[in-house]
Amino acid sequence: MAKLEAKIAESGSSGKLETKLQKAKDNVTSINEIIGDLNSSSSELNLMGSKEVTQKFTFIELGVGTEVGYAEKVNDVITMGITSDANGFHEAVHGYQIHQTGGIRQSERLNVEVPAYQRQFSFDSSSVTGLSSDWGGIRGRSDISRNWVMGIRTIDGSYPYMRGFNSKEMKVLLNKLRNK
Ligand SMILES: [Zn+2]
Repeated sequence: MAKLEAKIAESGSSGKLETKLQKAKDNVTSINEIIGDLNSSSSELNLMGSKEVTQKFTFIELGVGTEVGYAEKVNDVITMGITSDANGFHEAVHGYQIHQTGGIRQSERLNVEVPAYQRQFSFDSSSVTGLSSDWGGIRGRSDISRNWVMGIRTIDGSYPYMRGFNSKEMKVLLNKLRNK
């Protein structure tokens, strides 16, 4: 064994291999998370379409140029207005959340957005990596957090999940969270 270690040390490649091995393990973890997301979406969409569920669900494809989707319950029907397939996976998460809880409270907004964006990422990562957030960019599914959602900014400069905040106030808030 000692001989072998000496050999590895001599070749100088063991550290490099360990780093690569860790990277490969990390990739498997994130692939498993993505598969988990897709399986969850699959079972929830199946449930929405099954005859055993009395709750009615409807998808509406919003017209070209519509920026944001929505999910709401009106007259016992949960409607998901969607702007794209990727957004459809996102809004379907909210539709299912509404089904499970009866409705999404404003205080829960950031919490419910995290899994919705994670599912959207798992279906089409570029639809999420392309969003701009003052918290910073997304490289992987695990970068999607409450803080990232808070900092999401639309083209007009407003924060859809932190209405009324201006960029200065957002900077102060995110710095505070970063230094916690
Ligand atoms: Zn959402």
